[in-house]
Amino acid sequence: MNTKYSYLKQECYEANIELNNLGLVIYTFGNVSAVDRANGVFAIKPSGIPYEKLKPEDIVVLDYDNSIVEGALRPSSDTKTHAYLYKNWDHIGGIAHTHATYSVAWAQAQQDIPIFGTTHADHLTADIPCAQPMKDSLIEGDYEHNTGIQILDCFEERGLSAKEVEMVLIGNHGPFAWGKTAAKAVYNSKVLETVAQMAYLTLQINPNAPRLKNSLIKKHYERKHGNNAYYGQ
Ligand SMILES: [Zn+2]
Repeated sequence: MNTKYSYLKQECYEANIELNNLGLVIYTFGNVSAVDRANGVFAIKPSGIPYEKLKPEDIVVLDYDNSIVEGALRPSSDTKTHAYLYKNWDHIGGIAHTHATYSVAWAQAQQDIPIFGTTHADHLTADIPCAQPMKDSLIEGDYEHNTGIQILDCFEERGLSAKEVEMVLIGNHGPFAWGKTAAKAVYNSKVLETVAQMAYLTLQINPNAPRLKNSLIKKHYERKHGNNAYYGQ
């Protein structure tokens, strides 16, 4: 069935399947969305549908105020968080949320993930931020919308740029990652999970492992993202 937003639903569907194929979700605990900036809408996975049963036409399309534009199913319970981020960060094209084990472990421990190595530095120069667990007033209010506020507040308080740091942990909950496309958001979710696992293992081997030195942080980030980027692995 071809509809106005078939292409957007297809992009969102493929990103959700990839998130599952990468082993980042169990049961239905994950969601990816894809945005169409020209039309001011985004597509997101429906709530509670197992990945093996998911079809492109099941994907729900909404505007940034959470009104359904296309789709018969209930959108993911995290939809309002996605909408809030799209509304406030107009450069992002896709968002992914998982409950991947190592990312969640750091979120539950309420710890930023320190930059220990070049795998981390290839993607971002900062520690991966862990936002504070949400206050009771925010939990009791519009929880999913307020999760979006929690992410933005964390970036503002720390002076972080969502263009340079494309991932965050929410204390006691888990990771959100974003990027220029839904596929890039999924990629960043996998990078985050891998870096989280590597950092955990690093601290097991040496609890006093030092952070990566600045010269290596700069070298690795800039050869991939700087004006004279030459590195593509
Ligand atoms: Zn969640």
